[in-house]
Amino acid sequence: MRVTVRDLRSGNHRQFATPYLLACDGATSSVREQAGIPMHGKLLSYSVNILFNCPGLTSKHAMGEAERYMFVGPEGMWGNLTVVDGDVVWRLTVLGSEEKMNLAAFDADAWIRRALGTEADAGRIPYEISSVIPWRRTEMLAQRYKQGRVILVGDSAHTMSPTGGMGMNTGIQEVMDLGWKLQGVLAGWAHTDLLESYEIERLPIAARNISFSTQNFNAWRDTPDPGAVLDDTEEGRHVRAALGRRLRESTRIEWESMGLQIGHRYEDSPVCVSDGSPPTPDDFRIYVPTTRPGSRAPHCWLEDGRSTLDLFGKGFTLLAFPRSQARSIESIRSEFARRKIPLEIVELQSDEAARLYERPLVLVRPDGHVAWRGDEVDDAARIADTVRGALIRETAVH
Ligand SMILES: Cc1cc2nc3c(=O)[nH]c(=O)nc-3n(C[C@H](O)[C@H](O)[C@H](O)COP(=O)(O)OP(=O)(O)OC[C@H]3O[C@@H](n4cnc5c(N)ncnc54)[C@H](O)[C@@H]3O)c2cc1C
Repeated sequence: MRVTVRDLRSGNHRQFATPYLLACDGATSSVREQAGIPMHGKLLSYSVNILFNCPGLTSKHAMGEAERYMFVGPEGMWGNLTVVDGDVVWRLTVLGSEEKMNLAAFDADAWIRRALGTEADAGRIPYEISSVIPWRRTEMLAQRYKQGRVILVGDSAHTMSPTGGMGMNTGIQEVMDLGWKLQGVLAGWAHTDLLESYEIERLPIAARNISFSTQNFNAWRDTPDPGAVLDDTEEGRHVRAALGRRLRESTRIEWESMGLQIGHRYEDSPVCVSDGSPPTPDDFRIYVPTTRPGSRAPHCWLEDGRSTLDLFGKGFTLLAFPRSQARSIESIRSEFARRKIPLEIVELQSDEAARLYERPLVLVRPDGHVAWRGDEVDDAARIADTVRGALIRETAVH
């Protein structure tokens, strides 16, 4: 395909030919728009971020050190203060309606003083505002990740509430999924259909991350009966204690979410070879390490100080544990070599890794996800063709 780019500073145009075009141009992606890929979802709220410098802020209030401080007024949750560098730089997010996004009428100083309290009102907590940026909190997901040779990556494919910090994580995982597939197609060892597996694997994960993020946002907006929260009365004390307990519990999952962070798996992926084993629980909170195909290969320390994760990244990695048979290893090696699929065979003696990896042979993709595992190899050619995307149409037909 031919692409024309324009340098916005110089106005210069440049044309070039490219086999694929990746849209990494964020939530308002014009590439996505031009490719005609619709987004589905909804607006969650409007917010304004105030970035300000206030050295040693934690020692200037009685709330103690925290990553985040949440503000509830008689109207409910109105904002939160988040640590940026742990000392000097802070971000106050003010939640609100569309009118709050009108910066001409937005009094950032008043919001900072409301957050920092009477000491700031009296000028005893000096601070300096560095930026005030309005933004829309949305949950949106592209209907497709690929249109012809245009492929969406990152926020061009999805947006989610930052509650949970999954936006960039989701984009980085997409790059990891897509990167080796593109490399394989461009190098010629992968079938071009391998690129179709990108959407099949990643779109459900984006939907999962969106749902987690909105669940977190709803949890911290859920502050029932806050009317007396600022009152210096018995009722006020009761309301503050009850809201504190409630928020502590309801927001816990935002921090304790190992299942979400690393428990994602490419269920029903056409480029992983299922072994029919039952799935581990798919729970945001709980991560159960497993080598079930489609899962992220688990971490364990090796005797030389490396992690098993350090073994992956460049090509495919076949982990061979003591019970593996040389014949099986050789069949994988020769079928991958025949197709020029990059493969490294790593023989591991570690008992701990052998237990964790559950099978004597585990084939890990360049992105660290398990493609196949087994006690022995029946049909190495089929494994090789599956992981390089050559059998996707056949799988789709059956
Ligand atoms: C308040 C807030 C807090 C967040 N916190 C977290 C967090 O803790 N963890 C996390 O994982 N994520 C977080 N996120 C989400 C994260 O910032 C985004 O998911 C991430 O930045 C998306 O990266 P991206 O490269 O896809 O898009 P972007 O970061 O939007 O980058 C796209 C780039 O493309 C450029 N561009 C667009 N159109 C054109 C064009 N026509 N020509 C040239 N350039 C163009 C843009 O200028 C921009 O630089 C947060 C988001 C917000 C708003």
